[in-house]
Amino acid sequence: MNKLDAQRQKEIQQAEELLFAGPQALGFAKGLFQGHFVADWVMPYPRIPATQQVELDGALTELRQFLDEHLDPAEIDRKADIPRSVIDGLGRVGVLGMTAPTEYGGRGFSQMANCKILEEIGCRCASTSVFVNAHHSIGIRALLLFGTNEQKQRWLPKLSTGEQLGAFALTEKEAGSDAANVQMQARPSEDGSHFILNGEKRYITNAAIADVLTVMARTPVPGSDKTAITAFLVTPDMPGFEMLEARMPKMGIRGTATGRFALRDVKVPKENILGPYGKGLKVALTVLDFGRTTFGACCTGAAKTCLRLAIEHANTRKQFNKTLGNFHLVQKKIARIAADAYAMEAMTTITAALIDRGLEDYMLETAMLKVFTTERLWECVNDVFQIYGGSAYFVDRPLERMMRDARINQIGEGANEVLTSFIALVGMRGPGMEFKEIYDTMMKPTRERGFAKAWTAGKHRLGATVRVPEIPVRSPELRWFANQLGHLIRRFNVAVNRALITYREPILDMQLVQERVANAAMDLLASACVLSRQDAELQFAQRNGNSSSPDQFAADLFLRQSFRRIRQFLAELTDNDDKSVLATANSILGKPGK
Ligand SMILES: Cc1cc2nc3c(=O)[nH]c(=O)nc-3n(C[C@H](O)[C@H](O)[C@H](O)COP(=O)(O)OP(=O)(O)OC[C@H]3O[C@@H](n4cnc5c(N)ncnc54)[C@H](O)[C@@H]3O)c2cc1C
Repeated sequence: MNKLDAQRQKEIQQAEELLFAGPQALGFAKGLFQGHFVADWVMPYPRIPATQQVELDGALTELRQFLDEHLDPAEIDRKADIPRSVIDGLGRVGVLGMTAPTEYGGRGFSQMANCKILEEIGCRCASTSVFVNAHHSIGIRALLLFGTNEQKQRWLPKLSTGEQLGAFALTEKEAGSDAANVQMQARPSEDGSHFILNGEKRYITNAAIADVLTVMARTPVPGSDKTAITAFLVTPDMPGFEMLEARMPKMGIRGTATGRFALRDVKVPKENILGPYGKGLKVALTVLDFGRTTFGACCTGAAKTCLRLAIEHANTRKQFNKTLGNFHLVQKKIARIAADAYAMEAMTTITAALIDRGLEDYMLETAMLKVFTTERLWECVNDVFQIYGGSAYFVDRPLERMMRDARINQIGEGANEVLTSFIALVGMRGPGMEFKEIYDTMMKPTRERGFAKAWTAGKHRLGATVRVPEIPVRSPELRWFANQLGHLIRRFNVAVNRALITYREPILDMQLVQERVANAAMDLLASACVLSRQDAELQFAQRNGNSSSPDQFAADLFLRQSFRRIRQFLAELTDNDDKSVLATANSILGKPGK
């Protein structure tokens, strides 16, 4: 085996270990890749139970009042600091421990309810929503999910109220997108009572203001010369903790304190190991799933602000004796923002509900939500910026700040390119394994059981390519859309099968193919969420004597545009300029053609 193959085997083994814990219920996104519409996960559109809704409404009212009175996003950006009074206030209104259980001082909210809270913050100030995310969605999430009772009792009460703050420290110079390449070392002491940590972390949100940091470091695997990543709870008062840069000056979300720190022979008690020893990467990826869900909520909030600002300006600014809203090219932008904001909210709600309802593996859906909403938000910000013309450029308007702030979303918590590739590869794994089963048996047709398995796999593959899945909408107005979506899922499945048969293992490196597959899958998920939401809203409207729902046009537009994009992505799988793109890039990069 050459070095590259050995590295690939290692990566596959690592991914298998991390992602596939055993037999699980078929999730919605994985189902799409197999030509199924697993309706139960998306329909009917999830609703927060009435008692929780009352509590959420109360929390939102309190939050809105606090933010109206105390949050000044422009000043936070100008001073590159979120005032302590704002942080304390967020703690008082419960935001910093929203999903922590009440026995630890939290509010015990579901993910769905928490997303509504984050949407409210995200529509006002990205610095503040990223701060809350770093503290709550990823900072204390590891404790909530993996902490022992003792650890929870010790740390959570103060973290839930904001008396103490949390951070999540994975990234290093050599471990950015390649998160598994953590170099920080954790060596066990001779008596086994503690670990000695050495190394540096960078780009860590809240690092300089956190009282507890979840830190990923490399530990020896007993009985071998290998190492694995383990999560540790580290506090800045531990001797050897050195803050190298408390606030790295930066372009956007300037209010957040993004820091760089070193651990030099820091002794961390073994009781501070968080989650299973050697399973830190699993801890990190699970935590990031939650972060990506609230990312969706924050982006939804920001997209709604884009829409509000666009409407305000289009209805007031006059040129050529008309308000801007009379021009079709302005209308086109506003319509698209409205459609996208609607879809982003639907997708966030459904993804959060998957977590609340106990789907075991939602990595694909959270990755799709993150990529989809961050890319859409960037388009929304760009569109509203254009509608404001020259005035968008000046600092008396929020738009230049919103643009600077929005840019981090496509990079943080997994760069979108990395997640796009992940979505395609994890999604295609199911059908890919079925093909492998068929292929292996055809090569070695000796084992009877193997034949039976291959036969079943073959039937599944074939069945999915001829069957159009049914989408159970209740509103007759949506039947045409549901039918179209069913046909597109079937076409997607055929395209995935064809790509797997055509490219076989090299598909693992073919990111241009992966991107189209992932993009089509994301639009299929988004369309399913929009259909589900619109169905619920139409049913509600009709129960109240109305023939249409308020957002029917936006939903309708989203579905039409999304279907068009899906058809385009699938068509480009066979009609593209990939060879020319790669030849150009390789010639410019001075690489031999690949
Ligand atoms: C403001 C801010 C706050 C942050 N907060 C935190 C935090 O709280 N905790 C934490 O641990 N980290 C944090 N990060 C780190 C963040 O998660 C990383 O920046 C991100 O994972 C990307 O890593 P990188 O910057 O090293 O980029 P690199 O890994 O160098 O990647 C650069 C670019 O290369 C491309 N690329 C990389 N790999 C691939 C691939 N396999 N395929 C195709 N393209 C690829 C992508 O376009 C990517 O954007 C923060 C970063 C910023 C900027």
